[in-house]
Amino acid sequence: MFGRRFPLLRLFGFQVRADAGWLIIALFVTWSLALGAFPAIVPGLSAGVYWVMGFVGAMGLFASILLHEVSHALVARRYGLETRFITLWLFGGVAETVSEPPSALVELRVALAGPLCSFLLAIAAMALGLAVDYAGLPVAVASLLVYLGWMNLVLAIFNMLPGFPLDGGRVLRAILWQVRGDLYSATRAASRVGQGIGIFLMAAGVLVGLGGNLLGALWWILIGSFLRRAAVSSMQQLDIQRVLEGVAVHRVMDRVPLVVSQSLSLERFVQDYAFVRGRMRFPVTQGDQLVGYVDVADVRAIPEADWPVRTVESVARPPSPSAVIDPDANGAEALRRMQEADATTLLVASDGRLEGVVTLDDLVRILGVKSTLEGGTRLAALRAQELRR
Ligand SMILES: [Zn+2]
Repeated sequence: MFGRRFPLLRLFGFQVRADAGWLIIALFVTWSLALGAFPAIVPGLSAGVYWVMGFVGAMGLFASILLHEVSHALVARRYGLETRFITLWLFGGVAETVSEPPSALVELRVALAGPLCSFLLAIAAMALGLAVDYAGLPVAVASLLVYLGWMNLVLAIFNMLPGFPLDGGRVLRAILWQVRGDLYSATRAASRVGQGIGIFLMAAGVLVGLGGNLLGALWWILIGSFLRRAAVSSMQQLDIQRVLEGVAVHRVMDRVPLVVSQSLSLERFVQDYAFVRGRMRFPVTQGDQLVGYVDVADVRAIPEADWPVRTVESVARPPSPSAVIDPDANGAEALRRMQEADATTLLVASDGRLEGVVTLDDLVRILGVKSTLEGGTRLAALRAQELRR
């Protein structure tokens, strides 16, 4: 269900991406509107008009989802929460913020922004549709607007179901967080409700299917299973974060990493370092000072014939804050940096001195050890893939 994500556009400085499956869904929505919904709502128009209506309706639906997500992201930005990506997937969108909200009140406001936007769009589209109809303009335009009004109302209501990670679940989490004063237990409770709602939707789908509506059943089951999976996965993310928060980077890092000197040729680098250690990134040092790092991916960009004459210095990058972490930082922070930079290795340094190297595998190993020691079924369920997404 999750394919590759490709960049779609930039809006208010947010990068909007779409899941590969999204294109198929866009075609499917156009098709079902053109052949099913619109001919039933406004009979007697030509097939060409229905196809145009279907296309505009599908685009309007995705614009509605996009505006819903942008509302979340804009309110989040007001409170200093950066949104990494807005991703459109099968049944909606996700605005991923880099960190957890600082307080329950901020969480509440960010969560409510989306459904509120959808609700206002619903009222605006329906009012406009009625006005167009009243003015005697084409019935196709009026019914398109009324359809979009209904869809926005559905978006607002569905997202307000109280299961995490839906918006309503975030509202529930914010309230529990405020009452209990504990984000972790609030998230657990809200995601349990999310799993419950997911299972309920799947069961409803089975009933719909038994009633003879197989396509309808498929939608309910898909949405239900997606919600259940999202609830489980967001809980696992929190578990991972909690374990890693208790582990300092200097305790899990490689203290004697293989280091590379600036004058080394790329040929020797590949033969003696990259292949030997099987690592994607190596620190470049002068004495014990970290002066940069070299990524295997950057070497690939250089023609192989040039490797013997080019040096590491020519491809090394400076030790930027996104590539370097403090030895006293915790594992959760390391994981967050890796995910943000899409890297599997961080250099550990303090005051410019290289102390070690920490990799995603180091973090995964710690999670494995912790889950074995604690014997918990919950942590045992953590999968390394969850980290690598
Ligand atoms: Zn939302």
